[in-house]
Amino acid sequence: MSDHLAGGYDLAVFDLDGVVFLIDKPIPGAAEAVERLRADGTSIAYATNNASRRAADVATLLNGMGVSAESAEVLTSAGAAAALIAEHVPAGSPVLVVGAEALRGEVRDAGLTPVESADDAPVAVVQGYGPEVGWKILSEAALAVRAGATWYATNTDRTLPSPRGPLPGNGSLVAVLRTALDREPDVVVGKPQPALFTTAASLAKAEKPLAIGDRLDTDIQGAVGAGMDSLLVLTGVSGPADLLAASAERRPTFVSADLSGLFRPADQARVPAAEVDGWQVTRDGDRAVLTGSGDPVDALRLLCGVTWDGVPVANIAADSDEATKVLNGWGL
Ligand SMILES: [Mg+2]
Repeated sequence: MSDHLAGGYDLAVFDLDGVVFLIDKPIPGAAEAVERLRADGTSIAYATNNASRRAADVATLLNGMGVSAESAEVLTSAGAAAALIAEHVPAGSPVLVVGAEALRGEVRDAGLTPVESADDAPVAVVQGYGPEVGWKILSEAALAVRAGATWYATNTDRTLPSPRGPLPGNGSLVAVLRTALDREPDVVVGKPQPALFTTAASLAKAEKPLAIGDRLDTDIQGAVGAGMDSLLVLTGVSGPADLLAASAERRPTFVSADLSGLFRPADQARVPAAEVDGWQVTRDGDRAVLTGSGDPVDALRLLCGVTWDGVPVANIAADSDEATKVLNGWGL
């Protein structure tokens, strides 16, 4: 046991996009962080909502970016969904697959029979993102669910990141069926549901897992739901203003600018912080004033103490040049 943050945990469960890589490029320091954790004896898992790649393909992608990964360390929402269905229906049961070939493969590997028509009497419909998903297969899914099949969604991410901007994700395609059927999916597997995290922890036989993510509304909420400590890194989607405004079920245990926070003392990342070097916050009712100077993430940790206790984010003011710069930098 060491006093650095990661030393308190036996498993690190990484989200991928915004944590380990950004779309198609590794985030600086990610490969080194994974190697250092391995050297310290910490188990590694990668948990992704993406259902369009198989675990082995994700491992290949990561290794290609210089981030070491084995297939067995990768848990996709497709793999977890197939495993979950297999737990609830007899082996060989027909399952209607709406999604990519990767999802079909996971269903087959789980001992189930992928089908493409409601006429095959599927016991379940599993829906994950696939670029070829269209009206025809969505119609079969609607018919199957209406006939009594259990509806599983691998995840409900509304958008997918792309170099050209956000594109419709599985949540947008789930919304098509939700509208047509006027009901919700029976089971959502991916984050913010806790299943990916709890499965990763049980596969690694971890007693003290740490979830690491870039999104409060998926990664951190999933970790809170799974009863796991979590680290928010500011290299992806959620930013300081989001953290200040986070509701109780979306609050991480730690925050750091990037993965290097794993190797600094835990108390320098814990959120909220009661006091930090260089910054002071004075509260007066539902208003707060930040003054001083120092590391912006320290100011953020300090301010969470007042915003999570009822001060609206809009009521934070600055009383030093550095404080003004930091608040402006966060869009406040
Ligand atoms: Mg992410």
